[in-house]
Amino acid sequence: MTRGEKLYEGKAKVVYATDDPDVYIQDFKDSATAFDGKKKGTIQEKGRLNNAISTRLFSLLEENGVQTHFLGKDSETAMRINRLDMFQVEFVVRNVAAGSLSKRIGYPEGTPLKNPPIVEYYYKDDALGDPLLCMAHLDELGVISREDLEKATAAAVKINSVLKGFFAERGLTLVDFKLEFGKDADGVIRLGDEISPDTCRFWDSETGEKLDKDRFRRDLGGVEDAYEEVLRRIS
Ligand code: UDP
Repeated sequence: MTRGEKLYEGKAKVVYATDDPDVYIQDFKDSATAFDGKKKGTIQEKGRLNNAISTRLFSLLEENGVQTHFLGKDSETAMRINRLDMFQVEFVVRNVAAGSLSKRIGYPEGTPLKNPPIVEYYYKDDALGDPLLCMAHLDELGVISREDLEKATAAAVKINSVLKGFFAERGLTLVDFKLEFGKDADGVIRLGDEISPDTCRFWDSETGEKLDKDRFRRDLGGVEDAYEEVLRRIS
């Protein structure tokens, strides 16, 4: 499919138009950022690895009845996707305490949640630093209707149950992850963005070794090897 105009360039991906107004191309970059862009770097081969990992996981979700924006592979680093009108909300799904949840509620990292999953909503607003929102804030801001929020939350819970089981069979604990949803031209809610070690926490079930972007955020080394290992386990 021919790439048209570059529509958007983010921290980890570039989105291009195509000759079909409802189809875009999403190209994954090697660049990595953390802490609101304050930490920057390059992870060799990340574009290829995240494209391959996301392709595998979107396909798995589609096989399990979850509607996603994934249409097919475009190149080693890119996929064809449905154009979506994205909700200005990030959905974070958690099974085990880590990262900001550990800081917020005082559970040491690695504490299994009593009633998993917890689904949290964050406002996609760089100027505000993507704050956590309560239901009342969502209603006040009007960023998503209650009906759409309920549908997207149900999809997030289903996605968690599919992915959690899939990773467990491959010796990985799905600790937490971030999802973004939008509506296609027919008003159908679909999962967008990506599912990769950039947006999920994966821990080796036996050793607890971190196989995700925390290796970059926390300067643990072996970042590329960790992403390779995730792809190897799910291939
Ligand atoms: N996450 C993400 N993008 C963000 C914030 C979080 O993909 O802008 C993912 C992150 O990789 C982790 C989960 O969402 O898998 C929960 O992140 P958390 O709130 O703990 O924030 P962090 O500790 O990463 O700052």
